[in-house]
Amino acid sequence: MKKAVLYKRLEKEGWVQCTACPRYCVIPKGGIGVCGVRWNIDGDLYLMVYGTILTAHIDPIEKKPLMHFHPGTAVFSIATTGCNWFCKYCQNYDLSQRRKVEGWTTTPEELVKLALEYRADGFAYTYNEPTIFMEFAHDVGVLARKAGLYNVFVTNGYQSLESFELIKEFLDGATVDFKGNGDPKFLYKYAGVRDPEPIYQSLLEMKKLKIHIEITDLVVPQIGDNLDQARKLVRWIVENLGPETPIHFLRFHPDYLMVNLPVTPTRTIEKHIKIAKEEGAQYVYAGNVPGHPAEHTYCPKCGKLLIRRYGFYILEWNLDDKNRCKFCGYPINIRGSLGSNWNKDRFAAVYLPNSRYIRVKSPSDIKKQH
Ligand code: SF4
Repeated sequence: MKKAVLYKRLEKEGWVQCTACPRYCVIPKGGIGVCGVRWNIDGDLYLMVYGTILTAHIDPIEKKPLMHFHPGTAVFSIATTGCNWFCKYCQNYDLSQRRKVEGWTTTPEELVKLALEYRADGFAYTYNEPTIFMEFAHDVGVLARKAGLYNVFVTNGYQSLESFELIKEFLDGATVDFKGNGDPKFLYKYAGVRDPEPIYQSLLEMKKLKIHIEITDLVVPQIGDNLDQARKLVRWIVENLGPETPIHFLRFHPDYLMVNLPVTPTRTIEKHIKIAKEEGAQYVYAGNVPGHPAEHTYCPKCGKLLIRRYGFYILEWNLDDKNRCKFCGYPINIRGSLGSNWNKDRFAAVYLPNSRYIRVKSPSDIKKQH
């Protein structure tokens, strides 16, 4: 645990307000924010999962998914418990919806050292929402950047403007995950989010900071697959972030509290892709549909196949060393060059050698331990 940066003390004795995300939780002494990991201890806000991660893994960057950011590289991926959303279909619900502070102890220094030992190319703050552990991500990220590693967020984009004071010091890329086409009614009912507007503000901030952005949209059959809403979302992306922004329509699979729904039909994903192309988006992908032709990157100018993929794997690369189309010279929106291990297995389990597992149940538990 460590005292948070993103909070302020309120006039009411002992009360604080967290400023990490747009929920702006007002928390009394001994209280806990909605995400479960930011606690008011004696009138100050503490990030209880600072230095406590529930999982660490090496993944291909394509798994995030980030297809246009340092393709073919390996990314050291970490997560804590907790989340500021309550998605009823979350595939990582065991971490994100766990309202307990627990995990393996570590430090920013140790994580960066391990990432270098594992020959990772960067860090991903992923699996649960990184905004809630922003101060820890920041400290890891600043050190990682100094060591020549990149930093990416896999995020719902539900971030406060205050959090960008930390983000601007370390973040290089982000995949921002919409669900159900960003339909406000869907987000309210199935993710517990009253107002999606802050997501759009976050995206504009990221663009201002020149952070590489990719968008995903989890298409949930029957309840979150409205094509008019999808068109509205894509139009906003094209107009505000640019037609070169990669967009991924992800196939839903039944999980957590929504096992009653089927997987998204491929046909539905294809309809979304068609709409996005009609709106002018240049790079549109089908996610979680291995083997689909929309996994590949095509040149927006000459239409030739540039990057052939299968799932998270790159099979063919037709770009020059400046990321231009090999056939017509069109510049492709890809940040970073092809990783040297692009055609090797880039998954690995991570072992934290100096770690112990801890569990903290409540603020009173802290007092007992100290
Ligand atoms: S990060 Fe957590 S404690 Fe802070 S405002 Fe958001 S939900 Fe509340």
